[in-house]
Amino acid sequence: MRCDELEPLIEAIADGTIEPSPEDRAHVSSCPTCSARLAAARRIEEWLSAREMAQPAATFTAAVMARIGDETWKTERVVDIGFNLFIAAGVLVFIAFGAGLAWSLGFLTVTLDTEQLLRAVFAQVEGRVISQLQTTAIAAVVLTMALALWWWAEEAAD
Ligand SMILES: [Zn+2]
Repeated sequence: MRCDELEPLIEAIADGTIEPSPEDRAHVSSCPTCSARLAAARRIEEWLSAREMAQPAATFTAAVMARIGDETWKTERVVDIGFNLFIAAGVLVFIAFGAGLAWSLGFLTVTLDTEQLLRAVFAQVEGRVISQLQTTAIAAVVLTMALALWWWAEEAAD
């Protein structure tokens, strides 16, 4: 048994948390460093146990718990408001994309002539639909990732 092996155990031996092994005892009694450490630790232990423990006020626990509950409620409310705003923004983005797509294809023209509509669709479907779908798909992926992240954050907070 070397001194550095015994050193982390000195405090626990001093306060009685662990019982020293016969080898520990033998080493402490033959080693001036370790016996001095143990004596110092015992003095500190005695001094600490002689001190009066400060008692918290009777209302302390209740006050802390009430404060925590209050903080949690505020945080959840902010999260809920943020979530609702986020959903609203997402819905608006999709409506805007849908409207843009419809407008670019001629769906929103005042005269909803079927032939004209079909011509417009066939004439423009390739370029515009693809570019709009790409943009919408990217927005959908970003929104899904954000929602997943939000869900994860809420799960982690619980
Ligand atoms: Zn020693």
